[in-house]
Amino acid sequence: MAEHPLQFLEIPRRDPEKEAAETRIRHFGEIYGSYDGADAASQAGRCLSCGNPYCEWKCPVHNYIPNWLALIEEGKLFEAADLSHQTNSLPEICGRVCPQDRLCEGDCTINEMGAVSIGNVERYITDEAVAQGWRPDMSGVVDTGKRVAIVGAGPAGLAAADVLARNGVRSVVYDAYPEIGGLLTFGIPPFKLEKRVVRQRRALLEGMGIEFVLNTRIGEDKPFDELLDEFDAVFLGMGTYSCVHGGFQGEELDGVYDALPYLISNIYREEGIEDPAVPHIDLAGRNVVVLGGGDTGMDCNRTAIRQGAQSVSCAYRRDEENMPGSRREVANSKEEGVKFLFNRQPLEIVGGDRVTGVKVIETRLGEAGSDGRRRPETVPGTEEILPADAVLIAFGFRPSPAPWFEDHGIDILPSGRVRVSSLGEHPFQTTNPKVFAGGDMVRGSDLVVTAVFEGREAAMGIASYLGV
Ligand code: SF4
Repeated sequence: MAEHPLQFLEIPRRDPEKEAAETRIRHFGEIYGSYDGADAASQAGRCLSCGNPYCEWKCPVHNYIPNWLALIEEGKLFEAADLSHQTNSLPEICGRVCPQDRLCEGDCTINEMGAVSIGNVERYITDEAVAQGWRPDMSGVVDTGKRVAIVGAGPAGLAAADVLARNGVRSVVYDAYPEIGGLLTFGIPPFKLEKRVVRQRRALLEGMGIEFVLNTRIGEDKPFDELLDEFDAVFLGMGTYSCVHGGFQGEELDGVYDALPYLISNIYREEGIEDPAVPHIDLAGRNVVVLGGGDTGMDCNRTAIRQGAQSVSCAYRRDEENMPGSRREVANSKEEGVKFLFNRQPLEIVGGDRVTGVKVIETRLGEAGSDGRRRPETVPGTEEILPADAVLIAFGFRPSPAPWFEDHGIDILPSGRVRVSSLGEHPFQTTNPKVFAGGDMVRGSDLVVTAVFEGREAAMGIASYLGV
């Protein structure tokens, strides 16, 4: 007899409450197909509740992972959604985009047998709970009458708004883009994060009383002074949007693109957004070289493949072991046909009016630098030219401090990151006491989940500053 995929849910006696919960699990299987439905249920059952929840410690927001896995195993979907939201403001998004192999799943006790697929279960919990009518429970929240302006609707800003709302503080979130999400919407490709998921999160947050004011650039469309006048505090979660360049010859040639404008233009096209300031970059039929080994490089690889590039090669100056990108994304890129060239450092982008190739030199790893990572050293006499008619530069991002920071006493560090108090009375307070900041603009370009964590922590700093 064929094994029933949900057999672990079978119960000895009738229990109407539990049966209703089981129906929710089965319903998930119908929506997402038998693989995902069965997987979510069976994965939850694989957790050993080992008593050493390394997964929780490795998770940047310290999710109560074994606890919500146990709730799913018991069929308590809505309770799992409530618990999941106690520590994470965007669980369905982190479940999709976190590099779990480096975080929670990488430290799962049964990793050698194949870790519990924590990310998949996490996204399932919110996806399915919302589909069945679950909404954040705001019934016990008392309005404090305090209001906070949030600049930037990326992960840090959304997380701050979520925690403030749960503490009775209303917030208005401003963003320059036409939709919320920041890089979640206008950076991460749709094949990794479906944009309907971000829109769904927007609806949930609006349901909690959070207001979004989009297509509005603070400092241009609305002066920062007005925020200081109209609100009790301000949170800055403006991310890092300036692309890092290699500083070598040929980066200005026709056919050479920064990663972010390329990814944004592709998302605009896929989402049907028209903006003359965002021209579409189409790499169909091109021989593409991607420079950089982080997750943005992997996003470029996989987007170029989907656009129909003739070939996509990805050059990285260290070896595969030392790539900063998620292992899963590297594997996905390989599976989709990307050729990796490890230990290759770009020296120059060559061409006349247009790019024709990238001159690279082989490297070997030398001594570790101050960051603990072994430094690549070039091997003389190993230069070669990789033919290319399009090059994507994905060396990462750095902060772009707004000109009005200085006018309002918001100090930045030499790196361009905003200076905040980490141990002071009000965590994440900037040098302007009424202004807080968090996420990439404070810690430098990092993961979605670390921005969520900092947005949440900053919201607690704001709550303490407001005395609520
Ligand atoms: Fe894992 Fe990320 Fe979810 Fe934490 S937030 S449990 S690291 S997928």
